[in-house]
Amino acid sequence: MKNIAIYPGSFDPITYGHLDIIKRAVKIFDKVIVAVAHNSEKDPLFDVSERVALLKKATRNIKGVEVDDFHGLVVDYVKGKKARVVIRGLRMISDFEFEFQMALTNRKLSEDVETIFMMPSESYSYLSSKLIKEAAGLGADLKGFVPGFVEKAIKSKLR
Ligand code: ADP
Repeated sequence: MKNIAIYPGSFDPITYGHLDIIKRAVKIFDKVIVAVAHNSEKDPLFDVSERVALLKKATRNIKGVEVDDFHGLVVDYVKGKKARVVIRGLRMISDFEFEFQMALTNRKLSEDVETIFMMPSESYSYLSSKLIKEAAGLGADLKGFVPGFVEKAIKSKLR
């Protein structure tokens, strides 16, 4: 049986922090499904299909990655994919409280699904999609934060 992990999130848009986690995860699991959640962001910059397209492009050379989107509960999506693991990235202590709550809530919803936390390289541990969007709005150069085509996509949205 294949060991499949689901990496759910908003990915609005993908950053080098997300990519770092994906690259670490494919070393451990046979398949990693990066799953963009519908309705998780109130006011997203990119719609779900745009986020999926950016993720697909960013991960096209990484073996063992699939990109998808989903509605509803993460645990239901995980079971539907015959997976048992949810991957989440932990940047700083400030992520911990929310992630802890969510992992335990998901465990209550399904004992069969385990959440595994992974830490990115310290060079990405401060990166967030939200901050990048704000910085882009103020004219920042996003090199080092997101791939070039993502920077272009952000800037054309903000134009
Ligand atoms: P959310 O799912 O909370 O809306 P994101 O879509 O931004 O957040 O991120 C999805 C997952 O990736 C979350 O577990 C988040 O903590 C993690 N993540 C986001 N940015 C980074 C980063 N720079 N390094 C490591 N993990 C990250």
